[in-house]
Amino acid sequence: MVRKKLSCRAMGLNCGFEVHDESVDEIVAALAEHARRVHKVEATETMRQKARDLVRLEEA
Ligand SMILES: [Zn+2]
Repeated sequence: MVRKKLSCRAMGLNCGFEVHDESVDEIVAALAEHARRVHKVEATETMRQKARDLVRLEEA
């Protein structure tokens, strides 16, 4: 399995939070949870789709 990552910064927030996982669904879920807890933002379907598009393979 290839590790993937998504940073809060990539979503346009000034925040150092990053999610690393092998599953895109897990990454999107974790970022949605983080956004709700830390940024008081409810993840919409649009945001989830954007997050999915922004997931990158982790550099070795
Ligand atoms: Zn954040």
